[in-house]
Amino acid sequence: MRHIYLDYNATTPVHPEVLEVFLAFYRQQFGNPSSIHWAGRRVKGAVEKAREKVALLVNCEPVEVVFTSCGTEADNMAIKGVAAALGDRGNHIITTRAEHPAVVNSCLALEKQGYEITWLAVDNDGMPDLDELEAAITARTILISLMFANHETGVLLPVHEIGEIAARRRIYFHCDAVQAVGKVPVDFKELNIGLLALSGHKLYAPKGVGALVVRKGVKVAPLIHGGPQERNRRAGTENVAGIVALGKACELAIDAMTAESRRIAALRDRLEEGLLSTIPDVRVNGHKERRLPNTTNLSFPGAEADSLLLNLDLQGIAASSGSACSSGTLKASAVLAAMGVEPACARGAVRFSLGRETTAEEIDYVLQVMPEIVARLRVKQ
Ligand code: PLP
Repeated sequence: MRHIYLDYNATTPVHPEVLEVFLAFYRQQFGNPSSIHWAGRRVKGAVEKAREKVALLVNCEPVEVVFTSCGTEADNMAIKGVAAALGDRGNHIITTRAEHPAVVNSCLALEKQGYEITWLAVDNDGMPDLDELEAAITARTILISLMFANHETGVLLPVHEIGEIAARRRIYFHCDAVQAVGKVPVDFKELNIGLLALSGHKLYAPKGVGALVVRKGVKVAPLIHGGPQERNRRAGTENVAGIVALGKACELAIDAMTAESRRIAALRDRLEEGLLSTIPDVRVNGHKERRLPNTTNLSFPGAEADSLLLNLDLQGIAASSGSACSSGTLKASAVLAAMGVEPACARGAVRFSLGRETTAEEIDYVLQVMPEIVARLRVKQ
């Protein structure tokens, strides 16, 4: 059976050149970057080179990059780290329920400890209201946490405007850019973002590595205590091969992003338009223009997402019904619920996310099998 992978927002295959760098690193290097002898110094040099490459991709200073184990850790560090560092100044955080669980559950954990969380509404397009954001700010507000691009819908939030509000009101802005980095330009210097999270496995690097970019001067307490690694911000011997691989993936993303985005957006549109024109009553969830180039989230009301995914899987097609962390449960997507998508549509929502290896032929195969699957499942309801 042929396998068609359309779940790149869940994870990406490691790029062959990244894998080469990763394996070569382990073949040739083993030192601990904290060691002062030659073995350590060589590895330390490789880590610092990787830091420069990450910094180049998101346009920040290398010293602002703190390597973590994943995007979830970066989000936790930003939210809990700022809460711990600024706890004496205030206890109020602003976010939305359309954020990834790494953000939502970090905020819920803080809420249990007595922090006050404002859960801003998002509209049917997945956008927060900037007047409501501004109105929610109080003298006790220490953090605004709003994402760059939504993992389920691909919707791009107005991060420029959010950053301006945060800067004007002198409040830290944490931006979960895990889905954006490598897919669309992310300019840390230009945007007023204080803390920016990214993750290796979303941009063709291996799992087990991510980063939090922390603007110079921003106070964030460490989550993990121990040695002085990462300038005392994240203790623990570094995942050196993962870091080097992430550096390579960032370098490749800089070269490929513009052309790849155009190619992938054309394939995404071909898929979306094809499904909309051949299957009755299909809805696109989220803002149609302000979106990642690779993502489409479509509702097929009258069919259940789990059955759709199962039937697609039987045809070798991998898609998703939301964030990978919540699939496998029958609960409708929290993101779509936050957007006010009707339950029948939310229950029948499927996310297709395309990537480097997606071809027109694969898209045409999905277009060929999907109408029959939807029709069959709708009859069964
Ligand atoms: N934030 C967003 C928007 C995501 O999509 C994900 C993963 O799906 C994460 C955070 C968590 O990243 P990681 O899987 O590296 O922990």
